[in-house]
Amino acid sequence: MLTVNAIAAPSATEPLVRTTIERRDLGPRDVLIEITYAGICHSDIHTVRGEWGKVPYPLTVGHEIVGHVTEVGAEVTRHAVGDRVGVGCMVNSCRECENCKAGMEQYCLDGNTGTYAAVDKDGTVTQGGYSTHIVVVEDFVLRVPESIPHEAAAPLLCAGITTYSPLAHWKAGPGKKVAVVGLGGLGHMGVKIAVAMGAEVTVLSQTLSKKDEGLAFGAQHYHATGDPATFETLKNTFDLIINTVSAPIDMGAYLSLLRLDGTFVSVGAPPEPLPIQVFTLFNNRRSFAGSSIGGIAETQEMLDFCAERGIAPQVEVISADEVNDAYERVLKSDVRYRFVIDIASLR
Ligand code: NAP
Ligand code: ZN
Ligand code: ZN
Repeated sequence: MLTVNAIAAPSATEPLVRTTIERRDLGPRDVLIEITYAGICHSDIHTVRGEWGKVPYPLTVGHEIVGHVTEVGAEVTRHAVGDRVGVGCMVNSCRECENCKAGMEQYCLDGNTGTYAAVDKDGTVTQGGYSTHIVVVEDFVLRVPESIPHEAAAPLLCAGITTYSPLAHWKAGPGKKVAVVGLGGLGHMGVKIAVAMGAEVTVLSQTLSKKDEGLAFGAQHYHATGDPATFETLKNTFDLIINTVSAPIDMGAYLSLLRLDGTFVSVGAPPEPLPIQVFTLFNNRRSFAGSSIGGIAETQEMLDFCAERGIAPQVEVISADEVNDAYERVLKSDVRYRFVIDIASLR
């Protein structure tokens, strides 16, 4: 066992505190990673605050992890000491079900093993990336291209892949009108990736306060959802809407923005249900869908795509002691556009 420094949530209502956690001894196919940066995803906040259900406290969250390999097990072939690597939202899956075999481990029929708050194969509870080191089986470790700045690479492991996957699946590209709802961590990556795929991109944000930045990320259009006129102006417009909002929204209003055969995909994960009036789906033969992160091969494809296109998240680097304040800012939509913890501050 390796005892390492970390930050953990003691309960749903207390601030995160410095602590130590245990990492397992290296198995033959495991990789030991010294973490350099860890992103703060809104899912970390939903989880530690118990919004999605029961949580095994104390819990260390964090599933946007980058670092260097410092040790490998005897049978490891995919990674070597010194490699620049990343870990996202899952650290294992059954590998045998039809979804795993199709490269979609996130949809493992046995349930993938989440990077935190999941029961690992050895029966222990997984602990996430707000820590100095992590041990992960080699197949769930990604190669992070050198051209992506290290701190900016971290959010690609969740925010990047979670937006890339539905954009690729629903074929965002030339001739397609794509709207991204919510310009936060996921949203700003959704905009950059959809633009790089060649789509015509509209940001739908609560206000126009981030308009200049949204347009600088490459969006062609930007509208405030706080203005009811937006829903009149944009009626029957989009082929694809990617919703990244962490809270419930008025589904009828957003579905009415889809043109014929358009699809509304929610990656945003509010704890509350999103009620839908089916007649809104009958009109224009609309679809309502969800999407969860992406498979391991697809995550590698996304990292390589971002490196080739020169796309990276816009991050604000903070120390371990600033995480609780950062959570409050995320909750106020005051994030531009991803907080990333400098793990050197935990050593
Ligand atoms: P975030 O940085 O907080 O971004 C969410 C954005 O939604 C905010 O910046 C804000 O954008 C908008 N928003 C917030 N509250 C709102 C409200 N009450 N009404 C309307 N808009 C609101 O969060 P994130 O890290 O991008 O995560 C977004 C959601 O995706 C979370 O629910 C998270 O758990 C989920 N998620 C899902 C997956 C998956 O696999 N499906 C993966 C990662 C995260 P504006 O200021 O521009 O309005
Ligand atoms: Zn996440
Ligand atoms: Zn499986």
